[in-house]
Amino acid sequence: MTLKLNQPESRHILGVRVDDVSLEEAINLIETWASTPVSGGRLVVTANPEYVMAARRDPAFRELINQAALVTPDGVGLMYAGRFLKQPFRERVTGVAMTHALARRSAETGLSLFLLGAAPGVAESAAEKFLELYPGVKIAGCWAGQAGLEGDAESIAQITATKPAIILVAYGMMKQDWWSVRNLSKSGAQVSIGVGGVFDYLAGKSKLAPQWMRRVGLEWLYRLWQEPWRWRRIMVAVPWFGSAVLLEVLRKRLRI
Ligand code: UDP
Repeated sequence: MTLKLNQPESRHILGVRVDDVSLEEAINLIETWASTPVSGGRLVVTANPEYVMAARRDPAFRELINQAALVTPDGVGLMYAGRFLKQPFRERVTGVAMTHALARRSAETGLSLFLLGAAPGVAESAAEKFLELYPGVKIAGCWAGQAGLEGDAESIAQITATKPAIILVAYGMMKQDWWSVRNLSKSGAQVSIGVGGVFDYLAGKSKLAPQWMRRVGLEWLYRLWQEPWRWRRIMVAVPWFGSAVLLEVLRKRLRI
């Protein structure tokens, strides 16, 4: 899982690795990896401030991120943090954008995708949406499965039967990444990407924040409004992340 090809420059946001990569570069890397097998495959992490805060609390998760083939800056909070810390990212690279780009490319190249995760039936609806948007997209299979150890064997059986090049894993932060660490090498696929709530968006089960809110970095507020049960997670991660970034900026200014 560790081999890195044409690795983009990494930034360290509060000590956690995030790569300065554009969407186009990320897709090129993923396509190259999908067609050049290595043992273990390659994990792509879509990071946001919650990931950074989780990695600061959990050394094993920080190590997972450090060992990933690619860590994209998904989350406007990271874009601001990069700017404040004078380590700017060129582009925000979200799981949503990568998923669409890969589906579009799949229709042209035949690169096959497996949709793993989300509630039963959601991945199938997302696949239908893909077929509508990108006729010819190669969906190897869909499987909700279970994020924990108990679901691994059945998920691997489903995936190995369909031989996808890329697995899109939608089990949410940490669960999806640990799923890949446990299973990617057994799956026969070359790349797995943690895509969070992407299938829910595609299936129309949840809505993306309006463009203007995404642009000014208020996506978390929209999510809080739409999915109020998230308040505990969001209200812990966002202010702590912001404060930690400000503290780091001050520390750098005062050279302490
Ligand atoms: N999910 C799942 N099993 C789980 C936890 C989450 O299938 O045990 C799915 C959930 O249905 C959703 C996706 O994971 O489709 C992403 O969840 P979330 O929006 O919480 O992602 P995050 O914000 O953590 O990236």
